Amino acid sequence: MRFYLTTAIDYVNSRPHLGQAYEKVSADVIARYKRGCGVDTYFLMGNDEHSQNVYKKAREAGLDPLAYCAEMEHVFRERWAELTVSFDDFIRTTEPRHRAAVQKLAQRSYEAGDIYEGTYEGWYCVSCEAFRQEKDLVDGKCPFHPTLTPEWIREKNYFFRLSKYRDRLLAHFEANPGFLQPDVRRNEILRLLEAGLDDISMSRAGQAWGIPLPFAPENVVYVWFDALINYASAVGYGTDDARFAQWWPADLHIIGKDITRFHTVVWPAMLWSAGVEPPRQVFGHGWINYGGQRMSKTLGTSVDPADLVAKFGPDPARLYLTKEIAFGNDGDFTWERYEERYNADLANNLGNLVSRVTAMVHKYRGGTAKPAGSGGALATVVSGAAARYHGAMGRLALHEGIAAAFDIVTAANGFVAEQAPWALAKDPQAADRLDAVLFEVSEAVRAAATLLLPVMPTAAAELLRRLGDATPAAEVRLDRDGGWRNSGPRTLRTGSAMWPRTDLAAAEAPAIVTTKNETTVDETTPAPKALVENTAPKAPAEDTVAPTPAERIVIDDFMKVELRAAKILAAEAVPKSKKLIRLSVDVGEAEPRTIVAGIAEGYQPADLPGRMIAIVANLKPAKLMGIESNGMVLAASPEGGAPILVSVDERVAPGTRVR
Ligand SMILES: [Zn+2]
Repeated sequence: MRFYLTTAIDYVNSRPHLGQAYEKVSADVIARYKRGCGVDTYFLMGNDEHSQNVYKKAREAGLDPLAYCAEMEHVFRERWAELTVSFDDFIRTTEPRHRAAVQKLAQRSYEAGDIYEGTYEGWYCVSCEAFRQEKDLVDGKCPFHPTLTPEWIREKNYFFRLSKYRDRLLAHFEANPGFLQPDVRRNEILRLLEAGLDDISMSRAGQAWGIPLPFAPENVVYVWFDALINYASAVGYGTDDARFAQWWPADLHIIGKDITRFHTVVWPAMLWSAGVEPPRQVFGHGWINYGGQRMSKTLGTSVDPADLVAKFGPDPARLYLTKEIAFGNDGDFTWERYEERYNADLANNLGNLVSRVTAMVHKYRGGTAKPAGSGGALATVVSGAAARYHGAMGRLALHEGIAAAFDIVTAANGFVAEQAPWALAKDPQAADRLDAVLFEVSEAVRAAATLLLPVMPTAAAELLRRLGDATPAAEVRLDRDGGWRNSGPRTLRTGSAMWPRTDLAAAEAPAIVTTKNETTVDETTPAPKALVENTAPKAPAEDTVAPTPAERIVIDDFMKVELRAAKILAAEAVPKSKKLIRLSVDVGEAEPRTIVAGIAEGYQPADLPGRMIAIVANLKPAKLMGIESNGMVLAASPEGGAPILVSVDERVAPGTRVR
């Protein structure tokens, strides 16, 4: 048996956000589950690089687009490694294997008569990189980008004859009720198909960044048409027929609910047109909100997945994302809720149980638990929970599967309280009973830890080690080892608390600002009297030749300048200014500061929130274009080039002194 699983590939014009982390972690839990059941699994992830936004971003940073994409690949891989995401392959759409596949598919489709020349005139959302019909717009704006005005474009394009496939798509949905899940997404697409399909543009004219059409090389393949093909190119389409035959069709595409149309309407039609089978299943997951609000960098309601990992490590982050959010629905995150679940599930429930059982086995039985009899109440609990777990995982109800594993933990804690091993230990007549109780509890935790391996790979492996299960993690079979086992004896190991309880009140959550804090200083706020005019922060003087050594200063002079790390919370262009951007930055103080920085030639405001920069914190306030600036950002100012911000490693807390 084989299982080919993919996630959406990500645009690399911004750093990985929590929604993307959620998708990757969920898919990883599925991949690990399949592997753990002995299924030959291929798990693909990757980056979508032929986006005009990526190209623009690279140019703004003064980088060759390929070099920029390579740098971003590093950023994405680092984040996925931190979250222990175990993909087997990571594709970049600029790779030769992908180009070969795109050109082959486009050529096949062209030869099949499904691609023709025409003129596209209509709306285009640059941020989605998607053509939008009038009826798709909400108040004239893209529904996913309500702050952006879509562009009206008119250009010569090649069109893909999507309309031709409507009836076949309807029949396919009819014959394969599981093709798109959950059902709410399936119903949306069915309504769309019933309303009829238009042909779509599959090329862009006059652009340098992209894969040339094999039959009209002055055009590049439209980024969405290009991107979808990654799922086929990664397993050999166009480069390795035997490999492609082995892995295609894909068993499951995990994607966000906003891109189901591309994956279940456009993609199957593209494949049919080229004589290739469609994928077997597409699952559209929901979105994560922050405290009930849409996550948005500009609103200050975004959460960096790196902060989640920094707080408790990767496993609690993975557990929250997959257990607290019903897979397929939208979910919510707050730091309070994250901490609450950490304390409840890990510190109090599972962590406490493993500490108690290992400590008791050591105290009463010298560290060894021996099987006694055929297992009692907990054996029944484990069998029932394991069956529910496999049932849920099989239908991608990850949250239910993980909850079933935790049911074992809860029952085992109840069993310990009820059996009171500490009382049994005082009664010499109860020695056999104590043996049985200790074995049952340790066996129940072992089974639960086994079932938790896909979601908490590192911690579950450590739990198994403590419980005396010597099976290497790669050899654990969830279908076999996740059930009750009477084999033993086992030697348990004690260790420090795996998840120390955190105090909700005293705990320090990474800074999150609300829109309210963000605008502490605005045009309507009267400026303080002591304002110093005309001491505007200036970009450092441009050196046209090698700098002449300036007069040396002593350390005390330098220490007068208070440099601090700061996190950009929000940014907006200063009206009527070509150079200035108004920043709201976290410098570790009670309120964010406003700093006006002359960096607009190098940066778009939307790209700034979340960046860690260095600022001069003790500069006297200055008024720029009517805005009071409290500090100055540090930026390199190359001659004739745009300023480049001095960046600080994101592990540094805002407010940390730089010296
Ligand atoms: Zn959009």
